[in-house]
Amino acid sequence: MLAGFTTTTSACTSLNTILPDRIFFPGSAAYNTSVFSYHFLEARIQPTCIVGPRSTEDISKVVETIGWFDSVHFAISSGGHSINKGFSNIQDGITIDLSALNTVQLSQDQSIVSIGAGFLWGNINDTVEHYSLSFQGGGVSSVGVRGLTTGGGIGFFSPERGWVCDSVTNFEVVLSDRAIVNANATSHSDLFVELNSGQNTFEIIMRIDNQTLTTEVLAAFTAFKEPGKFDPHAMLIAILSYNTSADLYGAIAAVYHSHPKNVNGSTVEAFASIQPQLGDSLRIAPTVPALKEMYASAQLAVSLAFQSVPAAAPASNPNSLGYLPSPQPKCNLFNLLVDFSYQDPAATDSLEKVTQIFLHAIDEIAEEERIKDKHVYMNYDGSWQDVLKGYRQDSFEKMRDVARKYNEKGMFQKQVRGGAKLFN
Ligand SMILES: Cc1cc2nc3c(=O)[nH]c(=O)nc-3n(C[C@H](O)[C@H](O)[C@H](O)COP(=O)(O)OP(=O)(O)OC[C@H]3O[C@@H](n4cnc5c(N)ncnc54)[C@H](O)[C@@H]3O)c2cc1C
Repeated sequence: MLAGFTTTTSACTSLNTILPDRIFFPGSAAYNTSVFSYHFLEARIQPTCIVGPRSTEDISKVVETIGWFDSVHFAISSGGHSINKGFSNIQDGITIDLSALNTVQLSQDQSIVSIGAGFLWGNINDTVEHYSLSFQGGGVSSVGVRGLTTGGGIGFFSPERGWVCDSVTNFEVVLSDRAIVNANATSHSDLFVELNSGQNTFEIIMRIDNQTLTTEVLAAFTAFKEPGKFDPHAMLIAILSYNTSADLYGAIAAVYHSHPKNVNGSTVEAFASIQPQLGDSLRIAPTVPALKEMYASAQLAVSLAFQSVPAAAPASNPNSLGYLPSPQPKCNLFNLLVDFSYQDPAATDSLEKVTQIFLHAIDEIAEEERIKDKHVYMNYDGSWQDVLKGYRQDSFEKMRDVARKYNEKGMFQKQVRGGAKLFN
């Protein structure tokens, strides 16, 4: 560490010496492109400089340089779709924008797709679908591969295949001592397990190797969740919504099915028989246009999405999410996602407060009825929620041990502000 070198501006200057052309300052076109690329207006804040690395080696140099300035804070952005302000961009700090690392490569036997940290789900779909393949991934094409996967990841194949992270075979990462390592079942296997929901706790992830799947085209269908009717190929999302500009309440049930030709009629019946129905769009269709329609409207729109919890990982391929291995998915548990879309960033604080009160009320009822599971899903968390403490105690302790081993000086705990923290 260099004594006296404590300001963010000095750190940016040093980075600019080491990686000329890859450090962007306010006013430049590259800086503006990065700042305006964030999906949420709240996240469009102004870092002192932005680093746009082109390779893993670049990142290794960046980590070493930022490590000299231990009072300087930084953020890491892959797809930039975190809902929380300051998780993937930082005011008056340094943002590492990985969007230029957008390589994707299929292994020779087509069983593994290797994805650069900056890639978005939609781009990969384009690549693997060309070979009539698919993979465990997110539902919306503009979301980043990296953030979704290391938060656990709920995808269309989750009831059958578990969390998205369970399909990963290898992570290439840069550690706080600038070392570049591959974490997988045989190399740094302890780190591999913890990366599955460690977000930015230990490292910067550069590449993810994910198993491909052979399957039919994804489809949109209506729903199942009844005991005894569980369909491991169907992913249920039920959304209750209110849209202020249209003054419209809505209930939408969608099932994404990985084997559309084998859909069991009884899984659809429960929703199809609800009367009256505002509309019935039951059909085999690509998912993205349907989602675009849903998000197109409104000054303020709020929705509650009930989503199946993926199957727990098998003992042979553990993850760090804290669910015990089980032959059955957690078919009686679901995630509740409260989602606001709105124009005015000034509304954020009060909407967050309303959400907290609402979730607290639900927690109380769930506790009374002894059905509460304390797990908070990392990819849908509010910044006030302590996600990692919701994991089982032994999972949490194990993650802490791995963090101490691989991130000895605590760089990612102290200098990266956003994201879940193990030591606070
Ligand atoms: C429209 C929309 C749809 C969504 N759909 C789904 C869904 O179907 N399933 C699901 O599970 N989730 C879904 N999510 C949630 C999504 O998984 C999270 O928001 C996720 O964090 C986004 O990933 P990203 O790469 O865009 O993350 P970013 O915003 O870039 O980063 C998120 C966090 O990861 C850290 N980070 C980013 N890159 C790195 C890196 N290379 N190394 C280390 N740390 C890093 C950042 O510090 C930050 O804390 C959705 C979100 C949105 C907005």
